[in-house]
Amino acid sequence: MSEKYEDLRKELLYRNENGYNVISGEDRTEMEAYAKRYIAFLNAAKTEREAVKEAVRQAQAAGFKPYTTGMALKPGDRIYQTVCGKAINLAVIGKKPLSEGTRISAAHIDNPRLDLKPNPLYEEDQMAFFQTHYYGGIKKYQWTTVPMAIHGVVVKQDGTVVEICVGEKDDDPVFIVTDLLIHLSEAQMKKPLATGVTGENLNVLVGSVPLPEDEGGDSVKLAVLKFLHEQYGIREEDFLSAELIMVPAAKARELGFDRSMIAAFGHDDRSCSFAALDAMLALEGTPEHTAVCCLTDKEEIGSMGISGMQSEAFEYFIERLCAAQGVTLRECFAHSECLSADVTNAHDPTYPEVSDKANNGHINCGVCFAKYTGSRGKSGSSDAPAEFVAKIRRLCNENGVVWQMGELGKVDAGGGGTVAQFMANRNILTLDTGVPVLSMHAPIEVVSKLDCYMTRKAMKVFYEDR
Ligand code: MN
Ligand code: MN
Repeated sequence: MSEKYEDLRKELLYRNENGYNVISGEDRTEMEAYAKRYIAFLNAAKTEREAVKEAVRQAQAAGFKPYTTGMALKPGDRIYQTVCGKAINLAVIGKKPLSEGTRISAAHIDNPRLDLKPNPLYEEDQMAFFQTHYYGGIKKYQWTTVPMAIHGVVVKQDGTVVEICVGEKDDDPVFIVTDLLIHLSEAQMKKPLATGVTGENLNVLVGSVPLPEDEGGDSVKLAVLKFLHEQYGIREEDFLSAELIMVPAAKARELGFDRSMIAAFGHDDRSCSFAALDAMLALEGTPEHTAVCCLTDKEEIGSMGISGMQSEAFEYFIERLCAAQGVTLRECFAHSECLSADVTNAHDPTYPEVSDKANNGHINCGVCFAKYTGSRGKSGSSDAPAEFVAKIRRLCNENGVVWQMGELGKVDAGGGGTVAQFMANRNILTLDTGVPVLSMHAPIEVVSKLDCYMTRKAMKVFYEDR
């Protein structure tokens, strides 16, 4: 090969480098330590409520205090505020006044799964089942024959909150959605994947033993209710004010002979929400700008509702910090910047037809920025101004963050959105940032440790931005 233009190539061409070619020994050590913390978080927090609890526990250990109205705040103070136990905002007050804006990272802590219907329990053919209504975008056929755990709360009418978590301990029972045996699937196998298993097929098997010597109907169902009453003090009507969630019972595991990846439920968006949280808790002293970590709910169903990113709960949190400094919320937002941290698709060589290799995130190429997301001609996207992209690019390059730029798939292949638009609509400069994921929204998703670690590193650099 001619070496005549080698220097020119080096100087002019952009190359999307594998992070392992450039990562330092120090970074590799920190990456492994971070991966351990992340795996522990994945196992401790499979629902948004559990993620909030775990965030509060870790935040308190790092010196964060719950924010109360009228609380006097000075630079360096660390506070948090939860929303309905399903979302949380944390902040470290900066040296600069809030009129000079904040540095926000926003990620979501809800993920696709099977929620129980309000009146879920029924008996058919002497087996008891829970009816489910899936949450978020799922390929329904993937959720059959997967061992599942039940997580959530039942709130009794007197306000008592009963927490339920069954299926996670080694000796716990699990639950399962059955699928048709291949021997009798001739008709099912001819259906498209989208309709081979339907939403109403996603019934979870939960019991099969009738009450002894019972002549009445629905004896297996009654036996399940009797068990639940003895165990948790609940009656069937209590299901109507409950949030019960079926999630894969599997623990997060290292993946590959080289242990370079992690297979787990919920990388979307734990890989980014934990990065945002962990980086915030690791901030030393007082940052220049107030650093805000926003872990939101309901992203998978449109970010609507009280705990979603469209909720004014975010304004309520920031406005009160501003009021303490005599700054208006609008002034603060107008000078704020945000990394909207959500996963993107990793290029999958088994399905190369859906992504443009040069414009897609790749495993081990680092944190992936997306100038815009959306689908059908960028529709529904927050397109970050080039000036802001350039700034984040500089921050990463100056601080040893391995990064890449990607779109979510080919132009007409589909697409997706994040909370970025809701931040940008508040007049906050916002850039999509995240970890590339394989098998996104499947019961078990795959990420690389390097990409997770670099996302966390980007968050820290951003919070510490001057
Ligand atoms: Mn997401
Ligand atoms: Mn998602």
